[in-house]
Amino acid sequence: MLKSILSGEDCDACRFCCSFRRKSLWETPLFDKSTKEKLEKKYPQARFKNAGSESFTLDLLHLYKSDDSEEEAACPFLGDKGCLLSKEEKPFDCSIWPLRATKIDGQVKVMLENTCPAINRQPVKNVENLVNSGLGEKIISYAKENPDMIKECMPGFKIVF
Ligand code: SF4
Ligand code: SF4
Repeated sequence: MLKSILSGEDCDACRFCCSFRRKSLWETPLFDKSTKEKLEKKYPQARFKNAGSESFTLDLLHLYKSDDSEEEAACPFLGDKGCLLSKEEKPFDCSIWPLRATKIDGQVKVMLENTCPAINRQPVKNVENLVNSGLGEKIISYAKENPDMIKECMPGFKIVF
């Protein structure tokens, strides 16, 4: 959804957001039940765990080789040419990253993560303009329709909508 400011070339050279440090496992994307069941059949190597009453996330613990909190484990759906999932299968979390829909004091807000190098090279105004031209409302609407797919806000990120 951020294609106008995030190029495929940028992501091909990066893939930062498709690996997860042990200490940042709260960042793994959420899947609904039907997508999780479909992916379990298609990718038997992928493991899931419950995240909410109707949501699931990746279980990556078996992939770490040490107790180092900085060690990274790649998403099981990351292939040589990027994400293996179709548009329909890809988690909403991934489709809007580095934006996030989050719950803050009972309200849903759109937050900008500060770790995407391609976005960080640009003025924050680029993201704000995109969010204010319809994307923010679209994200909030999804969040209201799918409350179990929305995480609590983590401190330190910028609220952009
Ligand atoms: S961190 Fe940013 S540039 Fe890197 S793969 Fe993710 S979205 Fe693309
Ligand atoms: S589902 Fe796809 S986009 Fe999301 S973290 Fe995994 S490989 Fe990356």
